[in-house]
Amino acid sequence: MNEPLATALLATAHTLVDHRLNVGSSGNVSVRDGADFLITPSGMAPAACTTADMVSMTMDGQPCGRRAPSSEWRIHRDIYRRFPAAAAIIHTHAPFATALACLRREIPPFHYMIARFGGDTVRCAAYATFGTEALSHTALAALEARSACLLANHGMVVYGHGLDHALALAEEFETLCEQYWRACQLGAPVLLTRAEMADAIERFRDYGSPQPDSYGG
Ligand code: 13P
Ligand code: ZN
Repeated sequence: MNEPLATALLATAHTLVDHRLNVGSSGNVSVRDGADFLITPSGMAPAACTTADMVSMTMDGQPCGRRAPSSEWRIHRDIYRRFPAAAAIIHTHAPFATALACLRREIPPFHYMIARFGGDTVRCAAYATFGTEALSHTALAALEARSACLLANHGMVVYGHGLDHALALAEEFETLCEQYWRACQLGAPVLLTRAEMADAIERFRDYGSPQPDSYGG
């Protein structure tokens, strides 16, 4: 077991509960570990876990550890296989994301920050039973060219280039879901155009990168 990585994985799972993005044993987290990945165990609240409860898995789906891997290990494994940029994955039942997922609603370009997730919408994956290969298929379809999606009547999935990045994206996505929900209380939000979203997507390509030597005027 990669102890520093297991410590970081468990810390992320704790933060999701502390920030009310997950409750009890709902949701799960994983992180790439060389050719394999580490994932949270199934059915255990982070408060009840030690790093020894984290489960190592191969990309063939072989677990190694004293606990059963998250029931959603297929989604995690399939995202790592499909998207090389994915280095950490978070699945939550965060309140606003889940409320919108229960309406099976795609999140439209009501705010430029939607572009942060790769396109001009964040899709909602078709419903399938939790822990199934079918759910992994619907989630991967919804994630095409995106780093987040809703799961119908379930929650959300987001991936990033590390645990901290995935956590930041999960928080940002939940915030966007709350903002969309609040805006919808007042009427139909004015949506950004394709061109406006294309500009925002372009701006996000180097957003957060180190400052260039010169801004060149
Ligand atoms: P696990 O405890 O098996 O990770 O399941 C939680 C969950 O959110 C299933 O979708
Ligand atoms: Zn779930």
